[in-house]
Amino acid sequence: MKVIHTNNFKETQMVGQNFAREILAAGTQKNAVVLALSGDLGSGKTTFLQGFAKGLGIEEVVNSPTFIVMKRFKIYDLRFKNFYHIDCYRLDNEKDVEFLHFQEIISNPKNIVAIEWPEKIAGILPQNSISITFKHLEENKREIVLQ
Ligand code: ADP
Ligand code: MG
Repeated sequence: MKVIHTNNFKETQMVGQNFAREILAAGTQKNAVVLALSGDLGSGKTTFLQGFAKGLGIEEVVNSPTFIVMKRFKIYDLRFKNFYHIDCYRLDNEKDVEFLHFQEIISNPKNIVAIEWPEKIAGILPQNSISITFKHLEENKREIVLQ
């Protein structure tokens, strides 16, 4: 477990970027790499993922547009082909992600899947998800706990 404090949004992006590099450098796995990002609104989950995507070599902007649940980005890596950003904030339960082919996505080892508000779909999250929690400490200070 690693506890990190950041003092501005750029530092949080940098934590995400470094974490992406660790994942690219890690060994192979049988299923998708799944990140479960918990924390209140405004605690920095999407900000972390902006840096994370950059660390994966993605140039498009990661944001949280209203009413978009899932977005796919291409990754140009030997092992990984897709980065999925899933925001469950507006979902009620597990049933709502079935239509996204969720099981197929999390089974494919070529995928990296980042899920905001994972508690909404707790029943179908894979056991080996990497849990990352965010806390709003002060106006520009956040705590990030990497499991
Ligand atoms: P979430 O996805 O958890 O709802 P966002 O990342 O969308 O949160 O929003 C975090 C907001 O807080 C952004 O407006 C960001 O600029 C601001 N912010 C201020 N300080 C920080 C920090 N240290 N880390 C992350 N975001 C910060
Ligand atoms: Mg968000």
